[in-house]
Amino acid sequence: MGCYRRQAVAFVRGEGAWLIDEQGRRYLDALSGIAVCSLGHAHPRVTRALREQAGLLLHTSNAFRIPPQELLAARLCELSSMERVFFCNSGTESVECALKIARRHAWSQGLRRPRIVVMRGAFHGRTLGSVSASGESAAGHELGPLLPGFTRVPYGDLEACKALPVAGVAAVLLEPIQGEGGVVPAPPGFLRGLRRLCDERGWLLMLDEVQTGLCRTGRWFACEHEAVRPDVLCLAKALGNGIPIGACLARGVAARALTPGRHGSTFGGNPLASRVALEVLAVMQEEDYSGRAERMGKRLVAALRGGPGTLPGVEAVRGRGLMLGVQLARAGTSLVAHALRHGLLLNVTAGRVVRLLPPLMINATEADEIVRRLHAALQDHLSREAA
Ligand SMILES: *Cc1c(COP(=O)(O)O)cnc(C)c1O
Repeated sequence: MGCYRRQAVAFVRGEGAWLIDEQGRRYLDALSGIAVCSLGHAHPRVTRALREQAGLLLHTSNAFRIPPQELLAARLCELSSMERVFFCNSGTESVECALKIARRHAWSQGLRRPRIVVMRGAFHGRTLGSVSASGESAAGHELGPLLPGFTRVPYGDLEACKALPVAGVAAVLLEPIQGEGGVVPAPPGFLRGLRRLCDERGWLLMLDEVQTGLCRTGRWFACEHEAVRPDVLCLAKALGNGIPIGACLARGVAARALTPGRHGSTFGGNPLASRVALEVLAVMQEEDYSGRAERMGKRLVAALRGGPGTLPGVEAVRGRGLMLGVQLARAGTSLVAHALRHGLLLNVTAGRVVRLLPPLMINATEADEIVRRLHAALQDHLSREAA
């Protein structure tokens, strides 16, 4: 339907951090299908789990018990210190579940017109609830009328949150690091301050870790950097390494907000998706993906920021673990095509922020190669602009 501006390249095969196109050309993947393929492409353990489960049972229904889903829920709760999980198929659906939890929680408190506090520059997905919760740029898409009931504050502005009326608010929803918004980490102390405020006022703290979750930032969840435990935690992207699956985790009152009939999903957490996600989590744990993301992230940042031949046209490098943003002095969307010519996959978001989201299994040689190819692409980009 013309929803995408596609590059004229088609990949037919993958090996770890590399993709191979129809002509057999190899590309280094610094995007991972937007933070999805954290284990890299064609990981043998994912392939084996997928094959085994495909030969047993693909799908039944959430009207019955689903053993792999039960195991996955237990594992996710163990990793996150949450209590219950709702399974769906995408990030936007996990956010929709969070929005329903917030509203149900409010209704149980007698609040009939609950408001959810959201952040400027946020991105929560493409369904109408998530679009309504996202930053003001969504409003420019002429999809209105959007859902009512959201109050928007500047990202990182704790004082603006404190200034909100106590009554009427049900929850605060935010990304620990804004992804689509340009790889913008929350200022230090913001999450912890919000946690305290939510506790004082009986608001739910809901974190969208669809992109930051599952080892991407060097911890299982980005909120661990601030030792903050949310009431609701949204996951998706990396959970299935490419098999669609999302999860909305909750604890305390939030875990009890939804009751039979109030929410559901046909495919959510089916045997195939659950079995694959279990394998993904096992690999992440056994091969210390958090540690790898942290180490490789540090190496990349050091190479991007300094040393001989600092990157041309670059204003700032930010992010955490292997979720990095390289801010250019000027608009840079055409950089994607330059990088492709140098055999590098990347993404440009918020107009001028190069987003690097390589698979978490990259080695030091591949990390260095990303910087080398990005350098070459930036030089092309600048000389084309000058011409
Ligand atoms: C990608 C993303 C979403 C939406 O996920 P989909 O699977 O595309 O629906 C929501 N929130 C954040 C933070 C994301 O990065």
